[in-house]
Amino acid sequence: MLLAGSTLSSYDEARQDFSWAAATQLLSGLPEGRGLNIAYEAVDRHVATGRGGHVAVRTVGRSGTRDLTYRELSLLSNRFANLLHSLDVGPRARVFTLLGRQPELYVAALGCWKNLSVLSPLFAAFGPEPIRNRLTLGDAQVLVTTTALYRRKIAPQRDRLHGLRHVLLIDAAEDPPDGTLDLTAALASQPDHWTIPATSPEAMALLHFTSGTTGTPKGAVHVHDAVVAQHITAGFALDLRPDDVFWCTADPGWVTGTSYGIIAPLTHGVTLLADDGDFDANRWYQVLADHHVTVWYTAPTALRMLMRAGAELASRYDLSALRHIASVGEPLNPEVVVWAREAYGIPVHDNWWQTETGAIMISNYPSMPIRPGSMGRPMPGIDAAVLRCGDDGRAAVTGGQVSVLGTDQVGELALRPGWPSMFRAYLHDDLRYRQAFAGGWYLTGDLARVDADGYFWFVGRADDVIKSSGHLVGPFEVESALLEHPAVTEAGVIGVPDEVAGEIVKAFVTLRPGYEPDDALRAELIAFGRRRLGAVAPRDVAFDQHLPHTSSGKVMRRLLKARELGLPEGDLSTLERPR
Ligand code: ATP
Ligand code: MG
Repeated sequence: MLLAGSTLSSYDEARQDFSWAAATQLLSGLPEGRGLNIAYEAVDRHVATGRGGHVAVRTVGRSGTRDLTYRELSLLSNRFANLLHSLDVGPRARVFTLLGRQPELYVAALGCWKNLSVLSPLFAAFGPEPIRNRLTLGDAQVLVTTTALYRRKIAPQRDRLHGLRHVLLIDAAEDPPDGTLDLTAALASQPDHWTIPATSPEAMALLHFTSGTTGTPKGAVHVHDAVVAQHITAGFALDLRPDDVFWCTADPGWVTGTSYGIIAPLTHGVTLLADDGDFDANRWYQVLADHHVTVWYTAPTALRMLMRAGAELASRYDLSALRHIASVGEPLNPEVVVWAREAYGIPVHDNWWQTETGAIMISNYPSMPIRPGSMGRPMPGIDAAVLRCGDDGRAAVTGGQVSVLGTDQVGELALRPGWPSMFRAYLHDDLRYRQAFAGGWYLTGDLARVDADGYFWFVGRADDVIKSSGHLVGPFEVESALLEHPAVTEAGVIGVPDEVAGEIVKAFVTLRPGYEPDDALRAELIAFGRRRLGAVAPRDVAFDQHLPHTSSGKVMRRLLKARELGLPEGDLSTLERPR
């Protein structure tokens, strides 16, 4: 079985040869056949094979540059496991982190898995209430955070967090607030040695909340076996190799920041670059250049901002080490792929997956021609299909059966269950979990179509799709068309109820510097849309320099719609706010 994406001789061959059982053999497993543990695969086995001196994690940003080798990470995470054990925190107990990309995040994550506890990383930018809700819903026993975040967001409500037994502060030094421990001091007194207990691949490892793009976030449960899919997909889709310097820009509070911001790259033995600073085009290019990043995994919203900053800016930095760029989280507009190829000399590879899938499912492989605007083709081991929908815009289920659509028809994207990183539950919501499956498929809630060559094209989220005068309009198509206008750098498109058409398409657009948000430009954009899109073009365009985004960088269309219609704004816990 071939591994690295760019060496795939042929996509079809790789799919044919593939089996998850064979893929599992590519990982070492715990010594003496004691099972499969994420932390062992990510760290200890590299030490066992003589790569302990290689830099595992390099943190850059706010607090300067710090390197942790695989050996250091292995020892520190052993200490963390010992610490949990000494605090009587056992297997299955939930350990939450509220941290940026500081070294302690990686120590805590790996130590947690070594103790068979369950990691649940939260966005540090969350407000007190979303934090409390998740800690409560997730039965948090331990929280690892900073003194400042603790004082601001936890201490005032500590008396309401009954199950929270231990708070570990990474920077409390001699003066930890009441009811907390200083992590550095606590680790210093723990032994370096730890034996990872036998680990069932089905043991719960991660609790991850969805982005809340379409409603209240759901807690997806993942198990240790997920590491098989994370490792394999990082080879196929991200093309990772041991000598890479890999930068994943995702926050650890988002599943990308764990699957590909911690686990997968470490299983490949790369140097993982972790930047804790805010987005700034100059600074990001500086990071890419200074650290000779070879593989970069980021999101469309960041790429759109870099596009807005212009190709000339990119040309001022030496990005020659960069071999591969991938993007996830939202549809990647073809305009951005084309621009990136010009600006960086290499294209951006879109890939699609969800919190629920735990790993990349559909991807534009390094080895196959990219179709700009397409998500690519399913990973080896993954069967994807498009299912016929009913009036509610979700897969139609009759007598427990669904029907698979042919080429170029729009329906609900579905995956055949059985890959290792598939979520095993929505926490405390069995009904919702069961409803996510029908007729032998997992229903993703996204609408897509597949072309004659097996490339999948994203149409929209079932909740976001607009029905206008008998047409089914995917916001992505409209947004991408608007992005082709030189004035527009980002767009969010919604349906607004209309007596005649059912819904009409309305676009909110962000303008490039130098353009005036006036009636002339509005009329021009409407006419531009009509030329490109015909009947599904926006009838109305509004200007908005601050489109609402989730903390994971997705345009929150449901909030645009609620505001437009004067409806309640719903769950805004994941709305991005300044730190
Ligand atoms: P919630 O489920 O709480 O509404 P969410 O679906 O945004 O939030 P995530 O699991 O972070 O939470 O995101 C997965 C979703 O992101 C996918 O279902 C899809 O709608 C979108 N997505 C991810 N990657 C892509 C992509 N490459 N192209 C288009 N959409 C994508
Ligand atoms: Mg979702």
